[in-house]
Amino acid sequence: METQLDPMKDDLPLMANTNHMLVKHYVLDLDVDFKSQVIEGFVVLFLETGSRYRGVSSTGEEGCQSQFDETCKIRASEQGHVPVSNASVCSSKTEYNDFAVCGKGEKDTSDKNGNHSNEEQASGISSSKNCCDIENHGNEDFLLVLDCCDLSVLKVEEVDVAAVSGTEKFTRSAKLTDVSKELANLRNQIVHELVTLPSDRWKEQLYYYTCCSQAPGCGELLFTTGTWSLEIRKSGIQTPTDFPHALRIWYKTKPEGRSVTWTTDQSGRPCVYTMGSPINNRALFPCQEPPIALSTWQASVRTAASFVVLMSGENSAEPVQLQEGIKSWYYYVTMPMPASTFTIAVGCWQEVKQSFTPAVQTNNEFSLPCSQADFRGHEESCGHVEYPCRFQNPAARLQRVIPYRVFAPWCLMKCCEEHLLQLIPQCLSAAYATLGTHPFSRLDVLIVPSNFSSLGMASPHIIFLSQSVLPGGSHLCGTRLCHEIAHAWFGLAIGARDWTEEWISEGFATFLEDVFWARAQQLSHDEEKAQQELKALLRWRRLRDEVQNSEEELQVLRPNKESTGEVSESGASIVKHGLKAEKIFMQVHYLKGYFLLRSLARRIGGASYLASLRKFVYKFHGQLVLSQDFLSMLLEDIPEQRESGLTVESIFTNWLDTSGIPKVLFLIENSIDCTTAASSIAQKLKLHSYCCKMLNWLPEMKGILLLSIALKMSLASFLQSTLKSQIRKPLLEEGETWKESRLVQQVSGEVTKWIRTNQRIRKSGKKKRRQDEVIFQKLLPDQLVLLLEYLLEEKTLCPRTLQCLEKTYKLHDQDAEVRHRWCELVVKHKYVPGYGDVEKFLREDQAMGVYLYGELMVNEDAKQQELAYKCFAAAREQMDMSSAKVVAEMLF
Ligand SMILES: [Zn+2]
Repeated sequence: METQLDPMKDDLPLMANTNHMLVKHYVLDLDVDFKSQVIEGFVVLFLETGSRYRGVSSTGEEGCQSQFDETCKIRASEQGHVPVSNASVCSSKTEYNDFAVCGKGEKDTSDKNGNHSNEEQASGISSSKNCCDIENHGNEDFLLVLDCCDLSVLKVEEVDVAAVSGTEKFTRSAKLTDVSKELANLRNQIVHELVTLPSDRWKEQLYYYTCCSQAPGCGELLFTTGTWSLEIRKSGIQTPTDFPHALRIWYKTKPEGRSVTWTTDQSGRPCVYTMGSPINNRALFPCQEPPIALSTWQASVRTAASFVVLMSGENSAEPVQLQEGIKSWYYYVTMPMPASTFTIAVGCWQEVKQSFTPAVQTNNEFSLPCSQADFRGHEESCGHVEYPCRFQNPAARLQRVIPYRVFAPWCLMKCCEEHLLQLIPQCLSAAYATLGTHPFSRLDVLIVPSNFSSLGMASPHIIFLSQSVLPGGSHLCGTRLCHEIAHAWFGLAIGARDWTEEWISEGFATFLEDVFWARAQQLSHDEEKAQQELKALLRWRRLRDEVQNSEEELQVLRPNKESTGEVSESGASIVKHGLKAEKIFMQVHYLKGYFLLRSLARRIGGASYLASLRKFVYKFHGQLVLSQDFLSMLLEDIPEQRESGLTVESIFTNWLDTSGIPKVLFLIENSIDCTTAASSIAQKLKLHSYCCKMLNWLPEMKGILLLSIALKMSLASFLQSTLKSQIRKPLLEEGETWKESRLVQQVSGEVTKWIRTNQRIRKSGKKKRRQDEVIFQKLLPDQLVLLLEYLLEEKTLCPRTLQCLEKTYKLHDQDAEVRHRWCELVVKHKYVPGYGDVEKFLREDQAMGVYLYGELMVNEDAKQQELAYKCFAAAREQMDMSSAKVVAEMLF
């Protein structure tokens, strides 16, 4: 796998050898200095021997792993937290064995994926042959490889955890034989016992993590830094088992490091925040990036007293004054998660609070479709490693709204108070009503600076929202909030085992965003259906455009196909296209994933589909999944679907492994379509007219059934032969059926009025004849988006029509989605009075404005190009790298 790796290109390497050693816990101890734009301090890593070395037996490489799984199952069914960890159960059965390394090496000669060696690390290119040689000889030092870039590593040292008083109790079970290794073994034994403490002792565990992180060093370790990695070794130590299990790395970040952005907030005050993808936290602290490395963390962060430190932590930290002008903030988590999900933001944020007590209780009472009975069957079966899980906590299971806080720069507080603050409990409650127990115990929502490159980002305990969601009512803000809240389940509590399968989190979040938002608004069933059809049409149009205008390779949801989830022997892998700048602005993964889930939902039926989602959450929370985990579970629940030809393989073929828009939708995608299709066939076949009539009366399947009886064919063969071409409609045609939806029809009506108005204005020429009053209907924000998109398809719209349009809908004051279409209209028709709106959009809505630059350039209009250059010059410094790169390519 590494042989294809060229880190200079678009693929992102995940170098950490997680199969050799796994980080279980990070202790960060950092100072944030805004003057030098540097974060400096240390990180302490608590490690476990990796799965490939955890007692490899001669009978087979996964011998221990399967015992491990068995043990888990037995324990899970027995219920209760046995105070023995999984790993210790495992290791007690099979002694740690130095020879395991050699054993593995032999096996690896046939392993094409190869293994990391000293040389290959330095060059970033693998060669399976020489690495195996090295392992076979067994005389090279073991290398711990961490993902790391743009960091100045100052010192790496072994931590003397045995020097911490109280840790003796962790060594009672130590079986020490080799006297020369005694102390090192003792330390590793302590770490092992510490990282595997049962979950009910988490407080004690945190306490000792803190103490151990401050223990004295006991010897510096050798290290080298490469472009993408930090390699650590200890002279003479050849196996992960003997390698120190507690390390302290002293380091500092670089101002240009790509994990954090140093910028100013909307009130002009300095701040710094983590960017998330593509490189996540590797320029913030050396870590193991592969998602399989689930770990917990704690962090103490010191900075000037005027700043607030927000972080992925389950406690809402209160700052402690350390010395004049310096405060310290301490956060921790007890649920193991990928290091990539760690998030921090430091700035002069203000907490937004309700300035008056609302007359109505914001916690609206939803009927809960997922009653406790829904979960009763699953209560005992958490499938994850031990941690204090909320799904096992009766009080947590009943909590509809978790505690939340909102932070924003001073100048946006009022704006946040108006909508956002009220929306959070509504959306949290809607999410709970849909999926059940909140996986996280609390939530901070932060309005991030204007250069944040997307509308939102979800991390454990913290959501970043772009300021673009704030203006123009609650619709955009609410939907986005619902989307990010959905990530608590899909993306965080359940993570993708392979990062290339981001559709799993994005598809689900997009699908659930509609479900949550409908509940939050307390819509009736019909309203919900109408709004969701409108949304489907908008998304389908977006998908169609994106598929036409993007590289085919980037449209595949499972680019690694059957090798998805595979890593090399060491645990390293690469993320295909992980560094491609334009990918960040693509929504194919959101949209295709959404349409797949939507199509499954319609096939299975809304209620049982949501029940399946809840079951999936219950089964897989705290774990990593691949596409097939979800699909198999879903299809298991509904065997009749399998009989009709819906299989995991067919879903891979039609949806996940191909570019473009799925060629076929599932049979009977839309019951109305089906009846229509059946009647049209009936007509073609010149069936008796009463049959056609019946088809229109009888709902969905009955019509088909009737028709098949009429044709004296079995239903299956009838569907297969006669209706095949009719019902297996391309998604493209399904777009046509959404046009019949009520809200869409209403938009079409308004569009007709506008086109007539435009014609009348054109005919009236220059003279400003008083026009007949046209009454335009009030439209929902999504309807307005569609209206403007339809009008964008018109060749010419007069300036006066545009002026009237702006005035009618007060487009200035609408949400960013609407204003974006308005700006497109302004650019397309060179409507000069609207240029101010375009400029404002490019300045304030940077997360969405990237493509407007392209449109400003495309017209080859001097004034527009000048506008593009001017805006880019003003924003470039603050823009994130990917956005700046994409825009620069458009402009120069
Ligand atoms: Zn659990």
